[in-house]
Amino acid sequence: MKILIKGGRVLDPAHDVDETLDLLIEDGKIRNIEKSLAADGAETIDARGKLVVPGLIDIHVHLRDPGYEYKEDIVSGTRAAVAGGFTSVACMPNTNPVNDNKAVSQYIRRKAQEEGFANVYPVGSITKGLKGETLTEMGELKEAGCLALSDDGRPVASGEIMRRAMEYAKPFGLTIISHAEELSLVGEGVMNEGFVATELGLKGIPWVAEDAAVARDVMLCEFTGARLHVAHVSTRGAVEIVRAAKKRGVPVTCEATPHHFTLTDEAVRGYDTNAKMNPPLRSAEDVAAIRAGLADGTIDAIATDHAPHHYDEKNVEFNIAMNGVVGLDTALALTLRLVEDGVLSLHDALARLTIGPARALGISRGTLEVGMPADITVIDPELKWTVEPDKLASKSKNTPFDGWKLKGAATHTIVGGKLAFQR
Ligand SMILES: [Zn+2]
Repeated sequence: MKILIKGGRVLDPAHDVDETLDLLIEDGKIRNIEKSLAADGAETIDARGKLVVPGLIDIHVHLRDPGYEYKEDIVSGTRAAVAGGFTSVACMPNTNPVNDNKAVSQYIRRKAQEEGFANVYPVGSITKGLKGETLTEMGELKEAGCLALSDDGRPVASGEIMRRAMEYAKPFGLTIISHAEELSLVGEGVMNEGFVATELGLKGIPWVAEDAAVARDVMLCEFTGARLHVAHVSTRGAVEIVRAAKKRGVPVTCEATPHHFTLTDEAVRGYDTNAKMNPPLRSAEDVAAIRAGLADGTIDAIATDHAPHHYDEKNVEFNIAMNGVVGLDTALALTLRLVEDGVLSLHDALARLTIGPARALGISRGTLEVGMPADITVIDPELKWTVEPDKLASKSKNTPFDGWKLKGAATHTIVGGKLAFQR
C-alpha cells in the first residue's frame, strides 16, 4: 500500500523543515520526502495549499475505557482524535477499574490496536486505585507498555509518597505526570477565585492551590532527578516556576490546554457547566502568561485534557456538575488562532503539538523522517468551520466552544501509513 502526498507545504519543526515537498508512504513507513516524487500505483493526495505535518500528539486525554463507555470508549475517542488531526494520544488511568495494573494497560493497548484509529499510550497510575497511599508496581506497568504514570484527576497529596514515586520511576525511565493541586487550598471551590466567582456567588479555587503544588513537585523533581511532566498548567505562577526550574536544568516539562489559553473565568458567567473544569479557567493575566509560556518554550506541549461527560452529568447546577470538556476536535483550530493572533509562529505552534509532547512522553514520533512510521496530518489552514456539538466525533458533546467560528482543520490523518480519517 502506497500513498503519495503531493505538493504540500511540509512543516517539520523538529528539523526546521518548511518547504514544498512530496512525501511517499510505503508499507506503513515514510519512504521518501523530496521534490516531484512519482510512484506507480500509489493513492495520491493533492496537498497543494495545505500543510503536511507530523501526526499530532496529545499527551493528555481521557478515553473513559474501561468502565465509563457511556461517555467515550477507545474506538470513539480515537475516532475523535484522528478527526482532530491527532495520530497518537496518551490516556489517563482514572478508568474503572483504574489502570494501576498490567491487565488494564494490556486491555487498552490491545483494544486500541485491534479497533482504534490512533496510537494509544496508556498512562498507568502512580498509586493503587488513585488513592494516594500505595505505589503501583511500576516495573509491571512499564512492561505492559506504560511510558508515564499519573494519578490525574487527583493530586498525590503526600509529598513523601510523591518523592518515593519519583525515586522508583526514575530507573524505569518513566515520566511522572503531576496533576498539581493542593486540596486543602481548593476546599469546596468550583471555579477560579476572583471577581467573577464573587459576583456569581460560587466558591473559588485560588491560584496558589496550583502554584504551591507545582512548586512542590518541581522541587521533588530537582531533588530526585526523575522526569516530571506537569499537566494542564493554568496559572502565571505555575509557568514562572517551570520556567525558572528549566533554567536550572531541572528535567521538567509541562503542557497547557486550548481552553486555558483561550478562555478566562468570564466564560463561567451564565453558569455554563461546559466552562467548568479542573484546573478552572483563570484570569486574563493567567491566560497571557500561558501564551507567553507557549511562545518561549516553557510550555512544551499543547494537550487537550479531553474529558468527555454525558449530557446528564453537565445538565445540572454548576456546583455539582462534573469537571472537564472535550477537546480533540477543536484543539488544532484553537492553536492556529494563536498563530493568527501573532502569539506563536506556525513553526512553534506545530512544535507544541508534535515534537514537544513526543519528547515529554519519551516516544520517537512527532517528526518526519524517512524510515519512521508514517503518522502524518494534512491540514487545510484556511478551512472555515463552526463548532456544532452534535457534529463532534466524540461520544460526548461537552464543549465550551459551541457556535464558535474557527479556521483550520485536518483533511487527512494518516496513522502508520493508513488513512484513518479523511474530511
Ligand atoms: Zn488533571
